[in-house]
Amino acid sequence: MADDCVFCKIMKREINADIVYEDDAVVAFKDINPAAPVHILILPRKHIPTLLDMEKDDEALMGHLHSVANEIARAFELDKKGYRTVINCGSDAGQIVFHLHLHLLGGRPLLQTIANGRGA
Ligand code: 5GP
Ligand code: ZN
Repeated sequence: MADDCVFCKIMKREINADIVYEDDAVVAFKDINPAAPVHILILPRKHIPTLLDMEKDDEALMGHLHSVANEIARAFELDKKGYRTVINCGSDAGQIVFHLHLHLLGGRPLLQTIANGRGA
């Protein structure tokens, strides 16, 4: 947990969010500014700032994030037409919240541009 982190605050219920999934290791909630009909952020409870900060011990956690993405995708009926996942890492990628998170985007055809979770 980081005191100044908006996503840690959401996990501590200090800031409201529309939480759609949670377990011991992962929390998922709807993006406040959705870029697609379904736009969900999936994050580890552990405060890892960026993908560059992940450690060898976090490999299983990163796999779990993707399993959860599949579970949520099915719950939101994205399993027929598919979806996109995006992890922005650092300033050139446009990362604005420095608590590692996976964007899950779907519900419409997504442009085949360089995906960044916003201009998608
Ligand atoms: P990034 O560019 O860091 O990968 O994306 C951060 C995402 O978090 C953005 O899509 C933004 O809309 C979302 N976001 C930022 N602050 C909040 C918040 O307080 N609540 C929710 N639900 N989403 C947020
Ligand atoms: Zn955090």
